Amino acid sequence: MSANNTNTSAYSDFHLQYIAGEWQKGKDDSVNTNTNPYNGDELVKIQQATEEQLNEAYEAASQAQQEWAKQTPAARAAVLYNAVNILDQRQEEIVNWLIKESGSTRIKAMVEFGATRAITLEAATFPNRVHGEIRPSNTPDKENFIYREPIGVVAVISPWNFPLHLTQRSIAPALALGNAVVLKPASDTPVTGGLLLAKVFEEAGLPKGLLNVVVGSGSEIGDAIVEHKTPSLVSFTGSTSVGKHIGELANGGEYIKKVALELGGNSPFVVLKDADIDQAVKAAAFGKFLHQGQICIAINRIIVEDALYDDFVTRFLEHVKTLQVGDPDKMETAVGPIINEKQVKSLKDKIAKAQEEGAKMILSGEIDGQVVPPHIFTDVTREMDLSRNEVFGPLVGIIRAKDEDDALSIANDSMYGLSSAVFTQDLAKGLRFARGIKAGMTHINDISVNDDSNAPFGGEKNSGIGRFNGEWVLEEFTRLHWISVQHQPREYPF
Ligand code: NAD
Repeated sequence: MSANNTNTSAYSDFHLQYIAGEWQKGKDDSVNTNTNPYNGDELVKIQQATEEQLNEAYEAASQAQQEWAKQTPAARAAVLYNAVNILDQRQEEIVNWLIKESGSTRIKAMVEFGATRAITLEAATFPNRVHGEIRPSNTPDKENFIYREPIGVVAVISPWNFPLHLTQRSIAPALALGNAVVLKPASDTPVTGGLLLAKVFEEAGLPKGLLNVVVGSGSEIGDAIVEHKTPSLVSFTGSTSVGKHIGELANGGEYIKKVALELGGNSPFVVLKDADIDQAVKAAAFGKFLHQGQICIAINRIIVEDALYDDFVTRFLEHVKTLQVGDPDKMETAVGPIINEKQVKSLKDKIAKAQEEGAKMILSGEIDGQVVPPHIFTDVTREMDLSRNEVFGPLVGIIRAKDEDDALSIANDSMYGLSSAVFTQDLAKGLRFARGIKAGMTHINDISVNDDSNAPFGGEKNSGIGRFNGEWVLEEFTRLHWISVQHQPREYPF
């Protein structure tokens, strides 16, 4: 089917796996029951895949990749451009899936759709951006060529929070650069994290076998995906604990492979005493509560310089009280449901712990099913659980900093180093402060939640290894091959 097809009847058959270019039933006894996190409606039941089906996926990927790597850059780019057109045609259908499967509010679903489209468009330029080099040699009459080649088969494991975008930001570059993919989406989001994108690429004309979506539980087939001999790169996005396990598996087993790890965060949002307070308050609310705070780069700690602390707390509280909470499908809803009961339980525990540790809860609300309203805590210190660990929910602690140096010291007091933000009207100060933060990303006078398809996205410390987007992902998903040519016979010592 080509992208020019005007038949945009909604995609179906999401109960099937996509392996070797065929939609087939999972052969495992276990079933993934996919439900709407807001109202509990059952969306689809998926018979899970077995290890044998995983092997079939790798076999197909390995074979298909060899032909795909030989295609012209224009041919590969065309598939990506087709995919962009299809995303546009199906925007409403995709946004609705994000709302019903991942509990995205309409606002968040639109943000995610935009980011997904942007990385697909960026990836469409990659086939023509790959280039090699010719370097001089210190050996007489030798020429050095450095080729940049596809890496081969890429294993992708993605999370449930921004499922469409965080899957696409691995698979679109991988495919554009001549690789094949075996993808395992998160169990909470098999459709938006994988099967939906398989439909898009199939419709875009991607040859069979290049993209395989294997739905199975992380604990059942997760290890097998990583340890398999076929993939040369494992691109994992998820928690630091599972990421560490993946790193060990990828390099401690029989076959060594490259890993790209995009892990957890603990983003500080720093408000210095000369900040535009109105703007800082609005930014703090959006950067904290977008997608109920379930974003790796969401604001996790608000750090405010002493002189502005009380004023900030008063205005932030007033603003957050106005946020609409509940049905994610309603345009005006700011805070929708939490992805699953396990996460709700973890948030309840965090609320209890914050109070036990002496934080003052100045905003709370009744937890209704999986909807957790915003909770704000003051008198929070850097030692408390709320400050030390990733919250991944609509709870936030506000920490008082004595001065700018203290704010920087608190901001850096974390084992994570993903994103961060600082508000000040003095840009020279902002830049100095930003450069002092040990993180992969810092945004001055904006939220920590930013992703640009042509700027490097990634973290330091326990937030991971590697960078997404632009030429950084182009390097990540290719391999270098040094080929030399000895033009004249060389003289050897013996
Ligand atoms: P998770 O680590 O629980 O799961 C991520 C993926 O790993 C899922 O597909 C899961 O099924 C799979 N998995 C689980 N156990 C596995 C195993 N033993 N072997 C192989 N795969 C396994 O994370 P999550 O709860 O889906 O997502 C939330 C976490 O992800 C947060 O910590 C968040 O900060 C992080 N995250 C990071 C980024 C980033 O870009 N740095 C982006 C989004 C989310």
